Amino acid sequence: MDKVGLVSNIQRYSLHDGPGIRTTVFMMGCPLRCAWCSNPEALKKEKQLMIFDQKCTLCEECVRVEPEAITIEGKLKVNRALIHDIDLLAQSCPYDVFEIIGKEMSVEMLIEECMKDEPFYRNSKGGVTFSGGDPIMQSDFLLDVTRRLKEEGIHVALDTSGGLPWDHWKELAFEVDLILYDLKFHDEEKHVQYIQSGNAVIFENLDHLSKLGKELIVRMIIVPGVNDQLEDMRLRCERLKQSGANVSLIELLPYHTLGKGKYIRLGLPYPLNQRVEEYESNVENLLELIKSQGFTVQTRNP
Ligand code: SF4
Repeated sequence: MDKVGLVSNIQRYSLHDGPGIRTTVFMMGCPLRCAWCSNPEALKKEKQLMIFDQKCTLCEECVRVEPEAITIEGKLKVNRALIHDIDLLAQSCPYDVFEIIGKEMSVEMLIEECMKDEPFYRNSKGGVTFSGGDPIMQSDFLLDVTRRLKEEGIHVALDTSGGLPWDHWKELAFEVDLILYDLKFHDEEKHVQYIQSGNAVIFENLDHLSKLGKELIVRMIIVPGVNDQLEDMRLRCERLKQSGANVSLIELLPYHTLGKGKYIRLGLPYPLNQRVEEYESNVENLLELIKSQGFTVQTRNP
């Protein structure tokens, strides 16, 4: 039977998620909880409800389907814990106040969507990138999708935190052409503080990827005052070298707060507020340090 995956978004004509022009498929679910996550809608492997309450006209149609969860007293008030059916609720509003994030797609459906952009892949030496959330949360589904894409000769990249044990995604890692790999801290205590889990499994997976010989682009979001210390970066570089991983590039990405509005629409607190203007202050030193460790490095806007 055709497997089903849960997709949060499909972004076409991506230029930063691997070589050439790419289609980036964002999957639902992530094993980590980074304080600076800009895709909070994709953290859980289940459908999510976003509420755009400024679109509300107070027409009360939604109260008919969710009378316990919704009250209209001069403004829309939603008690998320009392909602019975987010799909019905979303359908009830004529003004698109409610948006469901997470679309169930079969392997065939996703292949069809990806292959619409095949001419762009061929002309630009691009392909498909699976991102998220973290795509390895749905590795079983993506293994089938990847094998089909590879049969069509399409380049496939995997954008992962590496936060799940190797057994969960080793077959998928074997099939893809390129891995975009996040390294957030060398310091485990800080990793626990800001990511809510340790980083031992992430470094272990690096060793496994090294044995596979997979090409890696290592990506690091740099959060001023949190993970931009030179010593931690030096240790991350040392660990990368020690693993023997086939790192073709290190990319530094500046922290941004563009995802903040999503937290409000999901009813979640925003976990981190750092002063983004400080980013420039340490980035030149980080670039120099990474170069001195023998890596090719670049920085770019998100
Ligand atoms: S149905 Fe939509 S517009 Fe009408 S009250 Fe509910 S949220 Fe507001």
